[in-house]
Amino acid sequence: MHIPFVDLKAQYRAHRPEIDAAIAAVIESTAFIRGKFVADFEKAYAETYGVKHCVSCGNGTDAIFITLKMLGVGPGDEVITTSNSWIASSETITLTGARVVFVDVEDDCYDLDATKIEAAITPRTKAILPVHLLGQPAQMDVIMEIAQRRGLHVVEDCAQAHFAAFGGRRVGTFGIAGTFSFYPGKNLGAYGDAGAIITDDDALAEQVRMFANHGADRVNKHEHLLEGVCSRLDGLQAAILSAKLPHLDAWTRARQERAAQYDELLRGIPEVTTPKIRAGASHVFHNYVLRAQRRDALQTFLKEQGIETTRHYPVPLPFLKAYAYLGHTPADFPVVTQHSREIISLPVYPELTGDQQQYVTETIRGFYVRK
Ligand SMILES: *Cc1c(COP(=O)(O)O)cnc(C)c1O
Repeated sequence: MHIPFVDLKAQYRAHRPEIDAAIAAVIESTAFIRGKFVADFEKAYAETYGVKHCVSCGNGTDAIFITLKMLGVGPGDEVITTSNSWIASSETITLTGARVVFVDVEDDCYDLDATKIEAAITPRTKAILPVHLLGQPAQMDVIMEIAQRRGLHVVEDCAQAHFAAFGGRRVGTFGIAGTFSFYPGKNLGAYGDAGAIITDDDALAEQVRMFANHGADRVNKHEHLLEGVCSRLDGLQAAILSAKLPHLDAWTRARQERAAQYDELLRGIPEVTTPKIRAGASHVFHNYVLRAQRRDALQTFLKEQGIETTRHYPVPLPFLKAYAYLGHTPADFPVVTQHSREIISLPVYPELTGDQQQYVTETIRGFYVRK
């Protein structure tokens, strides 16, 4: 049996008529850049979150950068974020001219450790950028309390956490803004690059919309109020996302069911630790991450048996070459350092079948029994 890590074709096959119709409608109306399909998706996405504004942009990386930039983050400032994420979470901080300050992760829930934020705050700290990694909401009650008390902005990187919630409230609505990626493999994925920013702040919404579109005035498009960037969602991606959005609730439930099924099937294997869901949280399982003894050998064995796995992430952010200038050592981030030796991400998606999950878990069990 071959089990891919992601299977985007399976989803397309299941929803082909709707998606093909959406694509045809865009071509028919030639609304390729901005226009009706983009406006419709922004409206629909904002509605699912109960927020006033959704501003689309080119990708999830731009969504973070544009938001930080329009919050006035820049040279001389510091932004606190997690030591385990995709580099987009931290490179966007540096791109504004600010300095990135990494904080170690929680041992059990894998997000930035909120109890370590206070110690990282300095007079230069401007914002906290929690990442709801793997689909697990960060500890938003503690993070918001600290941010409010210390006068810091919170920008939530929700690239892996569409519809995840904490205390019944969706992530992306706690901070001043939530940023999303619709990269094809994300829980809500386009057929190319796509991103968005959600916010209830009218002034910020206006600013990010303008900056994403060359700083152009909304009314008089030949007037540029500042220099911006060219970061826009195209009509095809917007129409595809609009066609997919109504299915996101069901897909999210399916991911959660697959995760629960893995938990069940992996029970009683002492060498692996299954994921923990934070109390009060709805984890949307963008990834299902195990901590496993003899991880490297396990990963090789799974590969030999046709099971694709990966690591989120092989190298913690502070130890990437890009951050060598910060001079960090593993002793600065003991938890994420330990995790990086043990983590392995199993395939998890709505279309994953019971047979496939059975095969994955039996193969893992077999590895520990035989070796
Ligand atoms: C995917 C991702 C991003 C960036 O999104 P792109 O659309 O690829 O630019 C940012 N942060 C995290 C945590 C991600 O997983």
